[in-house]
Amino acid sequence: MTTLFISDLHLTPQRPHITRLFFGLLRNEARSSDALYILGDLFEYWIGDDAAEMLGYAPVVHEIAELARSSVPVYFMHGNRDFLVGDRFAADAGCEILDDPTVVDLYGEPALLMHGDFLCTDDVEHQRFRAMVGDPDWQQSFLEKPVEERMQMAESAREHSRYHKDSVTMEIMDVNADAVRRIFDEYGVRLLIHGHTHRPAVHDGYPMGTRRIVLGDWYEQSSVLRCTPETHKLEPAPV
Ligand code: MN
Repeated sequence: MTTLFISDLHLTPQRPHITRLFFGLLRNEARSSDALYILGDLFEYWIGDDAAEMLGYAPVVHEIAELARSSVPVYFMHGNRDFLVGDRFAADAGCEILDDPTVVDLYGEPALLMHGDFLCTDDVEHQRFRAMVGDPDWQQSFLEKPVEERMQMAESAREHSRYHKDSVTMEIMDVNADAVRRIFDEYGVRLLIHGHTHRPAVHDGYPMGTRRIVLGDWYEQSSVLRCTPETHKLEPAPV
């Protein structure tokens, strides 16, 4: 009995070895797991379900669907890169889209799942971006633009984000301690699992009696959280 959690793979045809690693997980270990949870930023960017094929993401959709067809439930939560993943993707990939945040039952223990950017309240610029792109009107007008234009916008946002990450301090990019405390209070859970910060770790005891597991990104390694009824193991594997 194992449930798998991953996030921040940032899949792109430009890093095919990461896509191959992901397919390895889907074809092997995931087949015998109870469920696979993808907590956001599976894709480097997603500019609409209608552009998946043009961006070279069709094989990824296909591989996830194969796992789902083998009766392993697959859950997807949006990240800040792939917030436009929509119903057509969910249908094609055979997965269920979860709200951010969502509480799930993990072998009898309520676990709060998030992408994680919501907790980074010190990153004011990112929170502004989050508010803008979360607006259904903004999303609709973006999705109505030609694919070429959407791609250009996504590329320039990516450039900007790269610059932004270099220019702000490391503390700002991490979660805000008060935001963490508040979210535990609000949901009354003892276990929180999220990604986004690319700082894989298991934080015990803040607030007291809680555990916060931060999933790792798939840049230098693959990072999978394996949960059983007894343990939570966050294990990076070399690429
Ligand atoms: Mn993210």
